[in-house]
Amino acid sequence: MDENDISFFKDGLRLDGRRADELRPVKIEVGILARADGSCYIEMGGNKVIAAVYGPREVHPRHLQEVTRAIVRYRYNMASFSVEERKRPGPDRRSYELSKVSREALEPVILTSFFPRSVIDVFVEVLQADAGTRTAGINAAAVALADAGIPMKSMISSCAAGKVGDTIVLDPMKEEDNFGQADLPIAMTPNGDITLMQMDGNLTPDEFRQAVMMAMKGAKDIYELQRRALVAKYSQISADSAREEVHLCE
Ligand code: ADP
Repeated sequence: MDENDISFFKDGLRLDGRRADELRPVKIEVGILARADGSCYIEMGGNKVIAAVYGPREVHPRHLQEVTRAIVRYRYNMASFSVEERKRPGPDRRSYELSKVSREALEPVILTSFFPRSVIDVFVEVLQADAGTRTAGINAAAVALADAGIPMKSMISSCAAGKVGDTIVLDPMKEEDNFGQADLPIAMTPNGDITLMQMDGNLTPDEFRQAVMMAMKGAKDIYELQRRALVAKYSQISADSAREEVHLCE
């Protein structure tokens, strides 16, 4: 099957009922792992992804230490049960690439010079994949870094735009990603500074501009959800500790 064999729109809506500029439903939960320093679970449409952050902590092996800053390691992993056909477990070329670009998307905002000779480890586990796992992973990792108390200049939010049936669409799902004409994931700060941009397929300069604007708008909306998830967790904690203090005073 290729892009000519599939109709991506019905009555002006996409196969999953979305408008061209609509995100899939997003759910974000902060601090779901007791043994990680920071963690986050995210659902973006059919994607289900967990991020766990450990550190800053001692670097092993030691020769990787940097005297002036912390190093950041990012491991993207897809569970073998995350896709329709069982995926062969373990790292492959795709996961090495995604780990590298995702680390590079986050590193510019992490204040690594605060923690010389140490490491910040980010683990991203894809439990269910439906296209857009790198963007979901980056969104979860950024929230998990904040949850771990790692000083950052800002949040990072990530979203893709694509081209299907000659139309630019936001946040492509599996069929759109696999059989579409282009896919363009980005990551950015809330100010719009882009830290990741990749592209598969072909776009005209005008379509490229339109896709970037659309992905940036999507990332901006995701930023608001990341912020709200963090506020929800930490306002709950401060409400609980205020209640405890009142209780102790009684
Ligand atoms: P992303 O998940 O960031 O969009 P890709 O464009 O490489 O990254 O992958 C798109 C989708 O294709 C994935 O989200 C997943 O649903 C599917 N996919 C990727 N790798 C595999 C694989 N090895 N086996 C089966 N499906 C895969």
